[in-house]
Amino acid sequence: MDDIYVKLISNIKDSSLNDLETIIKAYELANKLHEGQFRQSGEPYINHPLEVAYILSEMNADSDTICAALLHDVLEDSDISKEELSKEFNETVAELIDGVTKISKLNFADNKEANMANTRKIITSITKDVRIIIIKLADRLHNMRTMEHKEEFKQKENSLETMEIFVPLAYYIGAYRIKTELEDLSLKYLKPDMYKKLEKKKIIIEKESEKCLTEMLETIGILLESHNIPYEIKVRAKNIYGIYKRVTSGDKLYDIHDLLSLKIMVENISQCYQALGLIHSKYRPINDKFKDYICNHKTNMYKSLHTTVFGSDEHLVQTQIRTFKMDKVASFGLTAYWDLKNNNAREEMQKDLTEKFQFFESLSEINIMCADNQEFVRQVKTELFADRIYIYTPKGEIIELPKGATPIDLAYKIHTDIGNTMIGVLVNNENVPVDYKLQNKDIVRIITDELSYGPREEWVPLVVTSTAKRRIKEFRNTFNEVSG
Ligand code: MN
Repeated sequence: MDDIYVKLISNIKDSSLNDLETIIKAYELANKLHEGQFRQSGEPYINHPLEVAYILSEMNADSDTICAALLHDVLEDSDISKEELSKEFNETVAELIDGVTKISKLNFADNKEANMANTRKIITSITKDVRIIIIKLADRLHNMRTMEHKEEFKQKENSLETMEIFVPLAYYIGAYRIKTELEDLSLKYLKPDMYKKLEKKKIIIEKESEKCLTEMLETIGILLESHNIPYEIKVRAKNIYGIYKRVTSGDKLYDIHDLLSLKIMVENISQCYQALGLIHSKYRPINDKFKDYICNHKTNMYKSLHTTVFGSDEHLVQTQIRTFKMDKVASFGLTAYWDLKNNNAREEMQKDLTEKFQFFESLSEINIMCADNQEFVRQVKTELFADRIYIYTPKGEIIELPKGATPIDLAYKIHTDIGNTMIGVLVNNENVPVDYKLQNKDIVRIITDELSYGPREEWVPLVVTSTAKRRIKEFRNTFNEVSG
């Protein structure tokens, strides 16, 4: 235990953001309050909040977050009140702890309604303070890492819940490292045989590719150096769950070209394209595998260039090229703001979440639409957590929609007025009916007319997003009032 405490403190000392004294005080209080409590493994309970705080300290989290992580289980497990915590620390710390507590430790198998209400609390806490979800993700990560002492039933139940709720949340805030580890831990408990099999195969493929990758690392390094481009280059391996998903969708293991990829980090955007040119001058690319996520970033803010090239000994190798800053965001998502935006990380996180992350508006909309908890959870799972498609507007903007969405959904996602005046739609320059199911990468032009009658009642069953449903109903209500 001392070990993890020492590691935590040394991380805190390294970080300019943190107030060491307050953090030590939070640890001492947590230690006192959890005294005599043990985890199922037999170790003192305090180890758990310490580990959670340590995970967050690795992301350079702010003092309030670290204190809240150390104390995240005390409201539940001791007599201390939220008011006392607020007095001892500050209101933010108390609110964060309260936020995390409200969404923990309900018995999910027990009661369906309590379960749904809890799930809703987890998901909507992101709208209050995203740090609640970040602490919760770190908490879940540590619990998943230490699940070997739990009964098999509990392991499977937790893994399922992790896949259904926490993995999508981690994805949406761009916390890729946490997401991939949670996926692998879940798969390990849900499909242990499959997990072991893929793990072994992955090691074999890694060995086979070693020579080719070493050659490429060297060659690319020399190329970049000779052009005076400062760089760092790493081998990145796909996680087991990522491989599992590809294999179960019919791909052969040896066809997964990004099972191992080279990650090249440079200082600025123009160097990214320069590096790309240099790599293509040396290794022949596969044209339709090239992706420019710098111009067209993913909807969770991921930015990078991807190109798959023929490496030596005929291996296909994916290379990812990005700046150091993009790499931080690629690994840590919103939590990278602690590192990148020093002083007002917290404000910028919540601001960008609201303005730049497309899922946020949809989530708020679903929250308004669904009074019933069960309906809320069902809608979030189908609209946000299930398969998504990405379509282009004529200007090249990328819009994220749930699979099964129609042009009407898109029109309302762009703007209420577009939906309300829509009279037709062109997909890839062809006329299609309004109930057409949009496909990934469709280029969609919505045709509008100021004088249109507005959305029809018959459109309601054709849409899958809450936004579209609500806007059509609102329009119809106003319309009926006026004409009635
Ligand atoms: Mn906990």
